[in-house]
Amino acid sequence: MSQETTLVLLKPDAVSKQLVGQVLERFQSAGLKIRGLKMLQFGDALLREHYAHIAEKPFFPEVQNFMQQTPVIALALEGENAIAHVRDLLGPTDSKKADKGTIRGDLGVDVMINVCHASDSTDAAAAELKRFFGEGELFHY
Ligand code: ADP
Repeated sequence: MSQETTLVLLKPDAVSKQLVGQVLERFQSAGLKIRGLKMLQFGDALLREHYAHIAEKPFFPEVQNFMQQTPVIALALEGENAIAHVRDLLGPTDSKKADKGTIRGDLGVDVMINVCHASDSTDAAAAELKRFFGEGELFHY
């Protein structure tokens, strides 16, 4: 077991459907601690950087349009094995395949409209935390 911090984005479906409080409540009830939180609007460059691994996929323009519909909320969450823990709480990428009781299973719509992004490895978490939070924006308490 190791103490980790992971990066979560609450996507435009969560923001527009007023699900932010509910999703935060699930993370906090699961014992994850908020180390950082901010709202931001994705610009084209940041989006392309964040989704570089899917930038050549045919569905990328649709993702780009979706992710820019409203601002998103970036969260830095800390806890034991936080990277895997958060992804377990979310369920699989495709909300339709996610079990009830998971965030995507209960609140998501499909493979794109799936409530949250979350880092999938320690390397991704380090890069993504740096991408969304500057020095002095992550707190220890
Ligand atoms: P995850 O977000 O679960 O790590 P990926 O990194 O594979 O999943 O994909 C990034 C995002 O791209 C997904 O969260 C989803 O919003 C979108 N996406 C993935 N696959 C598809 C698809 N087949 N059609 C539309 N959007 C997709």
